[in-house]
Amino acid sequence: MSYCVNCGVQLDRTARRCPLCNTPILNPKETVDTTSPTPYPKEKGQVDQVKHTDLAILLFSVLGSTSAACGLINFFVVDKSSWSLYIIGVCFMLWVFFIPAVLSTKLPIYVFLLLDGIAVAVYCFLISLNTPSRVWFLELAVPITATITLLVIIFAFLIRNVHASILSGAIYLFTEIGILTVSLECFIRSFLHMEFAMTWSAIVLICCVCIDIVLITIITRSRLREAVRRRMHI
Ligand SMILES: [Zn+2]
Repeated sequence: MSYCVNCGVQLDRTARRCPLCNTPILNPKETVDTTSPTPYPKEKGQVDQVKHTDLAILLFSVLGSTSAACGLINFFVVDKSSWSLYIIGVCFMLWVFFIPAVLSTKLPIYVFLLLDGIAVAVYCFLISLNTPSRVWFLELAVPITATITLLVIIFAFLIRNVHASILSGAIYLFTEIGILTVSLECFIRSFLHMEFAMTWSAIVLICCVCIDIVLITIITRSRLREAVRRRMHI
């Protein structure tokens, strides 16, 4: 029985090199067994990739059957409320979210992000069908969903077309968090019929601006930027 002189791993009699560290094996007392079968296959096995259309059909059948089953149970068995709309809405959202993964279309990513936003809005609408009033849907859900969708699309555009690095990505992110927070307070105050004023959102906005100033200082000073990159491994 041989052992690797470099890493000490126990070696098979048929091995010519250590399978762990690739050190050549040379044992004068035990020659390499060339007749016995090797413990590992010599050729790499490959598993066929799943076709996108098959994956799409599987996903559609799973989500479609779940939606249909819940709809039928809701209609025939438990018909006190339209609870199945929640599950049908989730299945619809998942289907829209996974479209880019299962279908190899050449549409730009912005179209898919827009569709994701519309799917979330549709889900909120289905929930609103079960609530006594739909005002919250029109005055909160729609503007918040539209704002988040727009900010995500802008973020994707900036990363893909303007400048893509961890530091610049952080600047875009904190700027958008500030804008989103102020927008949220505006929508909530409008929904509650309150006068416009920035209270809690101002705190978040000021913090985001301070972080942005620090990040912009780092990114515009080349020596500082390199020092940060070396220390943070980015
Ligand atoms: Zn070894």
